Amino acid sequence: MAKIKGHVTIRTENCKGCDLCVHECPQDSLQLSTALNTSGYPYAVLVNDTCTGCTNCALVCPEAVITVFREGKKKPIAILSHVTENITVDITS
Ligand code: SF4
Ligand code: SF4
Repeated sequence: MAKIKGHVTIRTENCKGCDLCVHECPQDSLQLSTALNTSGYPYAVLVNDTCTGCTNCALVCPEAVITVFREGKKKPIAILSHVTENITVDITS
C-alpha cells in the first residue's frame, strides 16, 4: 500500500525550540534550526518529504504552532491554537 503523504506548517516565530516534535516524529521529518527566531529560540523545520501527516508533532507541541495537512484533504487534519486549558482531541483519518 502506498504511504500516505503529509505536510506540516510551523509558526516558527512562536516555537520555543523544546525539541519534542523532533523526538516524536516517526519519520525523522523534523529538525531544529541552527538559526534563532526573534525570541532567541531555535525552531522546528521540516527537513525532508517523508512526513505522513500522522499528527504526532502537532499533538505534543506545547506551543500549538504546528498545523498538519494530509494529501487529498483540503483542510488541515490537525490544528491546535490558543489552547488555554486541558482539551480532548479526536482524530479521523
Ligand atoms: S505529521 Fe507525523 S510524520 Fe509529519 S512531521 Fe509531524 S510527526 Fe512527523
Ligand atoms: S514541539 Fe512545538 S515548540 Fe517544541 S520545537 Fe516543536 S514546534 Fe517548537
